[in-house]
Amino acid sequence: MPATITTIAYLLSGILFILSLGGLSRQETARRGNTYGMLGMAIAILVTALSPEVTGYGVLAVVIGIGAVIGAILAARVEMTSMPELVAILHSFVGLAAVLVGYASYLDPDNALTGVEHTIHEVEVFVGVFIGAVTFTGSVVAFGKLRGMIGSKALALPGRNLWNVGMILVSAYFGYEFVGQPDHGGLLSLGIMTAIASIFGILMVMAIGGADMPVVVSMLNSYSGWAASAAGFMLSNDLLIITGALVGSSGAILSYIMCAAMNRSFFNVIFGSFGQTAKAGPAAAGEQREATSVTIPEAVQLLREASSIIIVPGYGMAVAQAQYPLYEIVKTLREKGTEVRFAIHPVAGRLPGHMNVLLAEAKVPYDIVLEMEEINHDFPETDLVLVIGANDIVNPAALEDPSSPIYGMPVLECWKAKQTIVMKRSMGSGYAGIDNPLFYKENNEMLFGDAKKVVDAILAELKSGAAHAA
Ligand code: NDP
Repeated sequence: MPATITTIAYLLSGILFILSLGGLSRQETARRGNTYGMLGMAIAILVTALSPEVTGYGVLAVVIGIGAVIGAILAARVEMTSMPELVAILHSFVGLAAVLVGYASYLDPDNALTGVEHTIHEVEVFVGVFIGAVTFTGSVVAFGKLRGMIGSKALALPGRNLWNVGMILVSAYFGYEFVGQPDHGGLLSLGIMTAIASIFGILMVMAIGGADMPVVVSMLNSYSGWAASAAGFMLSNDLLIITGALVGSSGAILSYIMCAAMNRSFFNVIFGSFGQTAKAGPAAAGEQREATSVTIPEAVQLLREASSIIIVPGYGMAVAQAQYPLYEIVKTLREKGTEVRFAIHPVAGRLPGHMNVLLAEAKVPYDIVLEMEEINHDFPETDLVLVIGANDIVNPAALEDPSSPIYGMPVLECWKAKQTIVMKRSMGSGYAGIDNPLFYKENNEMLFGDAKKVVDAILAELKSGAAHAA
């Protein structure tokens, strides 16, 4: 294929990726965004496969076939609640690919670069392998944490930041040793740096815990982009550079937005060892009140009496898949004139946009689904708040208790409403592993049980009551 056509095709793919990101930023255009992304990727694969450097079509067809089958099975089977794990493990593949491309590129016997170009190439290899190794091991640990194979609490080694700086400096030293060695003589330095970067990735993510994991996932997303970009430089592939930079920068912007949503600085998340201390709660807050609970008929009575209701969904609603009967409840209440809206916290659930996707699946209209900043000031005028399987995102300790690990994180201030009902299975803590003083407030009632079963029971009670009234 002529080089100009390749360049034009790569440019087209790059534009489609940008349009894809633009589309994905809004629920209404997300489907279109996905289509642009798939089209861009199809063009990129086709054009790369047809480039003159590619000759082994048999092997290529086999690996693409295997990859496509694994990808299709995984995508079809994965639950929405397991999506962050899948994303984390996919990031690890990008990191590993960057490491392998780095080594292959360094050892390539056909590499004819000389002088400054050769030195630049070696620097690209070294930096690419470093970012790739950090991304690979960091993503594997993030996968383990999100899957519950590794505890979610932060592991804070004494003098951790000194260790981190030390590892970066030692890697830089081996980088100096690596560049300019004849006959692949830098292989040992590259190997030592790879080992150090791998340990660095493990320690970095092990040290982040609790509610900061979403930022880590998007940060690793960003790293995987830079790793891909580095691989693009090593392979002199412009599209890989562009795509990597798009992923790298959008991941960095998302990390920044999530940090802002949690009122934390990026450095505080990375270096703060958040999540290793935890115990706020009624005792810590000086409150003695026992939590009280309501039955299904009592909860339904409260729902009937309220003229304005805000529903706060969280991770528990996602696991229980309670969104479908929940929307039936919403429809029933709206039919009788009650104002019902949803309040979405930016880190509700286990991945950004988790709740929006679930509610869209259940066909909840977009105009009653409001983001935290749009609805937070409406709680004082609201009769009833129904918290379904959410915990950290409605924890008043974030505003009221300076000793709480989540102090300063913006939360949905639902306790300011006249009445709240928290629906969950027990008094257990949420992802951050901290108690929630909301459960003990005067105006709160607990409604214990699996979210799906409880929502089903509420719907049945609500409908039978409506039938009686008719
Ligand atoms: P939380 O994890 O804080 O709380 C979820 C609650 O749901 C639990 O307390 C649990 O209580 C309850 N629950 C679990 N299963 C069920 C069920 N079947 N039925 C009813 N209740 C159930 O979730 P939130 O959504 O409030 O907050 C999200 C947390 O996850 C934050 O800390 C956030 O930082 C973190 N996170 C977010 C990510 C993101 O990108 N959005 C990614 C990774 C982490 P019980 O066991 O008593 O039922």
